[in-house]
Amino acid sequence: MAHLSDLPQDPIVEEVKSTASRLELARRYRELDRSPEFPRREFRALADAGLIGLHTSRDLGGRGLPLPRTGIALFHLARLGGTAFAKLSLQPEFSSVLAEHGSRELVEEWFRPLMRGERLIGNQITEPGAGSDAAAIALRARPSGDGYLLDGEKSEVAFACDAEAAIVYGRVPASDPRREITAFLVPQDLDGITRKRDAPDLGERWMCRGTVHYRGVRLPAGFRIGEEGKGFEYVRSELTRERALLAAVYLGVAHASWEETVEHVGARTAFGKPLSAQEGVAFPLVEDEARLESAWLYTERVLERLERGDRVEAPAALAKWLATDTALQTLDHAIQFHGGRGYSGDLPHEQRWRDVRSGGIAHGPSEIMRLIAARRLWPTH
Ligand SMILES: Cc1cc2nc3c(=O)[nH]c(=O)nc-3n(C[C@H](O)[C@H](O)[C@H](O)COP(=O)(O)OP(=O)(O)OC[C@H]3O[C@@H](n4cnc5c(N)ncnc54)[C@H](O)[C@@H]3O)c2cc1C
Repeated sequence: MAHLSDLPQDPIVEEVKSTASRLELARRYRELDRSPEFPRREFRALADAGLIGLHTSRDLGGRGLPLPRTGIALFHLARLGGTAFAKLSLQPEFSSVLAEHGSRELVEEWFRPLMRGERLIGNQITEPGAGSDAAAIALRARPSGDGYLLDGEKSEVAFACDAEAAIVYGRVPASDPRREITAFLVPQDLDGITRKRDAPDLGERWMCRGTVHYRGVRLPAGFRIGEEGKGFEYVRSELTRERALLAAVYLGVAHASWEETVEHVGARTAFGKPLSAQEGVAFPLVEDEARLESAWLYTERVLERLERGDRVEAPAALAKWLATDTALQTLDHAIQFHGGRGYSGDLPHEQRWRDVRSGGIAHGPSEIMRLIAARRLWPTH
């Protein structure tokens, strides 16, 4: 298809394609929308195929790929299997606070099984009173005996129904409130924990979001991750990496719809000529091509800088914002130019749009992404 723009290339792309075809990820992606459930079988199968934890180091059971190559693999996984399977691949990245700061025992018991696709670990930061302003969380973790007593509520969290454990952020009282936020690995079957599923989401329903209550939950000290008071610092560096990688995911999803739309408008006739002969159809699609490619090049550059060890919190935040915005616009055009069928569940564009829409809120809303970038320009505000 010579008229399509060049896609990011790497030897891993063939591997991604053949696994996606063997596991029928495109079909499974559509099924997950109609019958939402956590795709355990695919999680295991992707792990067996070496596609879970692409960037995770080899000594932790990962592939140890550099970030730019990880981004390329995720772009293609998302092109073929939507956000679902790319986000499954990213699960160890979303638990890197555990891998990097957890005790050897916690890593053995929880992180390695996650890498094998055997155990799912959630991430619980958001609370009813603290979302965008994550530093305002209130869940209490009071020292008690040889451990902590947890009291509070986490809301909006993914995998509320399915995760065997979660990385939970709470406050251990300290003289300086800025040094209170601490990370814990909390098995979700402990006494005092209740989990409630929320109303169905717009998209990505397989993530089963919900609310988790902690009432007098006793947690042994060995489940603390790293040092008291360092939780926020740990998660900030994880968020930087995951935002840049999520940008690659959203662009991959949008690219799939863009390609399919280019094909469609070239073949579909109205008013005696192909839709592509109408400038009102062709111009938005060539603009999308330029925007997708620009957003990809920006994302790739951020991933390269991250890999070199540069501080890129603001560029990574902007990459997620730019990719989400670009992808949503492209997906909207895909729905529009497929006409009535574009709006229907017959075609994947509306599902992709609904799924990518979460990118403007999850892992930090788009406004917060720009706020992070603005603070870099005017640090005194
Ligand atoms: C699909 C999905 C999965 C999620 N998974 C998880 C998870 O696994 N774990 C977890 O902890 N959380 C999760 N979340 C929650 C998510 O992190 C929060 O919803 C997000 O941080 C926003 O917080 P909030 O919902 O409390 O919105 P609020 O903080 O109430 O903000 C509402 C909106 O106001 C705007 N806004 C807020 N502050 C500003 C500002 N300073 N300037 C300009 N505009 C602003 C933004 O548009 C924002 O979306 C998930 C959310 C979604 C949608």
